[in-house]
Amino acid sequence: MNINLRELAARGAPIELRGSLVMEDPVTGRNDIRMAGPIEANLTARSDSGTAIVTGTLTAELELVCSKCLRKVTEKAEFSVTEMFTMQRGIAERDEDIHHVPDEVVDLTPYLREAFVVQLPMAAVCGDACKGLCPVCGKDRNAETCDCVQERIDPRLAGLKDFFS
Ligand SMILES: [Zn+2]
Ligand SMILES: [Zn+2]
Repeated sequence: MNINLRELAARGAPIELRGSLVMEDPVTGRNDIRMAGPIEANLTARSDSGTAIVTGTLTAELELVCSKCLRKVTEKAEFSVTEMFTMQRGIAERDEDIHHVPDEVVDLTPYLREAFVVQLPMAAVCGDACKGLCPVCGKDRNAETCDCVQERIDPRLAGLKDFFS
């Protein structure tokens, strides 16, 4: 997915960018997250005093392994992105959020990939209500209940418990 900075500035109006990003599996180094489809980009690019501003959303189907219960779930992820580009070094030096690019044609794909990856959850969870696995017997507490007794003891109070018993 490319934009041409010079054309965008000359046009004087925003352009819509829509499409699937073609890239190798963007999620590397994670064994709990897999892409279940391409990243769909829905973006608007506009030019403002020497800077191209690309904003919009990236959506993708993700296959996640819940870090609490280890179930596999498919989830639609939607992330907002804003990426800015300029060919003028001075502008980029004043604002470190603006990428300095040498050429008027910019391939957005690597920037969008990066913006997508940094917004992935640190630990995937199947849902806010996930009860996780029982730490005693290992049963999935979303599906079954068990009679295991879990003592939640504050480690700082553990010594006191011994004292009283
Ligand atoms: Zn879960
Ligand atoms: Zn249990």
